[in-house]
Amino acid sequence: MGRVVGIDLGTTSSAIAVVRGGEVIVITTSEGKRLPSVVGFGRNGERLTGRAAIEQGATNPENTVYGVKRLLGRPAGDAEAGGTSTSFSSLRSGPRGDARVYIPVAGKLFSPPEIAAHILSRLRDEAEAYLGEAVREVVISVPAYFGEPQRQALKNAATIAGLTVRQIINEPTAVALSYGSGQSHTSTVMVVDLGGGSYDVSILDIREGQITVRATSGDTHLGGTEWDSLIAGWIAATFLRRYGIDLRRQPTAWQRVYEAAEDAKIALSTDEETVIDLPFLAASADGPRHLHLTLTRRQFEQMAASLLERLAAPVESVLADAGLAPSALDAVLLVGGATRMPMVRRQIEMLTGQTAEIPPQPDQAVVAGAALQAGALAGEVEEVRLRDVTPLTLGLETVGGMMSPLIPRNTPVPVSRSQVFSTAEDGATAVEICVLQGERPMAADNETLGILRLEGIPAAPRGIPQIEVTFTIDENGLLRVAARELLSGAGQTVFLAATTSLTAQEVRQMVQEAERCAAQDLVQRNLVEARTAARQVLYLVERNLQRANGEIPPPLAERVMRQVRALQQALAGPDATRIRHLTAEVQQASSAISSLILLEHTRPSEREQ
Ligand code: AMP
Repeated sequence: MGRVVGIDLGTTSSAIAVVRGGEVIVITTSEGKRLPSVVGFGRNGERLTGRAAIEQGATNPENTVYGVKRLLGRPAGDAEAGGTSTSFSSLRSGPRGDARVYIPVAGKLFSPPEIAAHILSRLRDEAEAYLGEAVREVVISVPAYFGEPQRQALKNAATIAGLTVRQIINEPTAVALSYGSGQSHTSTVMVVDLGGGSYDVSILDIREGQITVRATSGDTHLGGTEWDSLIAGWIAATFLRRYGIDLRRQPTAWQRVYEAAEDAKIALSTDEETVIDLPFLAASADGPRHLHLTLTRRQFEQMAASLLERLAAPVESVLADAGLAPSALDAVLLVGGATRMPMVRRQIEMLTGQTAEIPPQPDQAVVAGAALQAGALAGEVEEVRLRDVTPLTLGLETVGGMMSPLIPRNTPVPVSRSQVFSTAEDGATAVEICVLQGERPMAADNETLGILRLEGIPAAPRGIPQIEVTFTIDENGLLRVAARELLSGAGQTVFLAATTSLTAQEVRQMVQEAERCAAQDLVQRNLVEARTAARQVLYLVERNLQRANGEIPPPLAERVMRQVRALQQALAGPDATRIRHLTAEVQQASSAISSLILLEHTRPSEREQ
């Protein structure tokens, strides 16, 4: 059986892991165990991911995409898509009203799955380099609260990246898998996951060999980014008041503000106050304007009162849906970077009346769970039976614009439910079935997943045709809808044209495009990595030369200076092999200088020994 890996595609950072010898290994990429989920489109047509994308993003914000996960499967008009404040690229509407990102340097619109595919293929490349074998199959995690179009979009992203999704696993289920692995007693846990872009609360029963999700709820519009936006908005308002300059209109300055806001938020998780320093943030007629502000935790918590209130509803909803009092929970687990904010922890503890626990290595819990499931599918570890639930009610529109539920939320999946409907007009030979997702009684207030047209119904008075509609949700939470007329037996092939999904043809084209770009992207990434390593070595050698303070033998000094100049020249060019070769030379010279410095600083008695 081939290797199956686990991927956690996060809003802010992503990770890939594999099971080897029964143990989960989170693969250390060239940027560490988590790769920033950022994609940059460089001026020469290159596509960069991770830190390289962030670095070029400082001067190229309009061609840099942050937080693409929040755009997956979203309509362009979705308030959330519009408010993806850390994405500086412009959001537009695609052919089916889906969110697309306009990348000026490429002069075209990209779909969110196409952009997410860059992050997935980068992770796959890193895993292949580590494992020394091809990686083609994946278990990928999604927020439990992800609806149908978002799951489909993520699946499309994987396909574009050349990966086959063996299973989509909900993030809290993945956490429970890694938390519960090796645990023999039964426990009921609440997993609270506040990541960069979404908030998920689930209650799960963990028993040896089986994990059952009892209820799940959440808010895909709430994540750490909202707290960043608060601070960024406060900075912008202060700056506007002081200098009359609107930083929101200056992409480069606004990006610096956002990064500083996130740093401040993180600092306030441990410190009572933090200083935000942004020199030369903007220019005015009176010269450069700098920013220097102090933010206290108390002020920050006051600003965030309305965000904290939004944490309550999903907690209350899962407890009610699972029919449990908070005291029946054996543990409340906090995962997701944003739960490290003391105010979030306090709020969850207040809502549950329990002391919240942070599982060991919280930022690896999701990917580790995905990898364990991947390992189970590949037959490397024992399988744990996962009983997940559907997060949102699925139904269809009936007379009077009502939503008629077919599968209520929190129904265990896989599941298949049928219901028989009829026509509303005399002599109708076709009906349109509008598939909906959401909890509101009126169809218009829920999300339309697609419209299915059933034709060939024999003409009859209204109420006579018997149209059976079947919804089937597979273990990945993906929905299939079928309809057929029972009396005439008129079978019909029907398909669901999900409003926000890519068509199969579009996905195929994107796969081809990704394959075409792959070689070029690899060359570019290799060059960026070589340049980054070279700059580090140049910095080191410069520091060593300063520390040596002219005490190095002139021939060595001359050689080093020659090598440094050659490397600096090569850095401006596109030859990664030459840069690596010269970097190795300068590295050697730098080590020679360090040993000399060491010798200088060693006392004579030590030297003799
Ligand atoms: P995740 O998607 O779980 O990686 O979470 C990412 C989010 O957590 C981002 O909004 C981060 O800024 C935020 N985050 C990470 N570490 C901290 C921290 N120590 N305090 C507050 N927020 C954090």
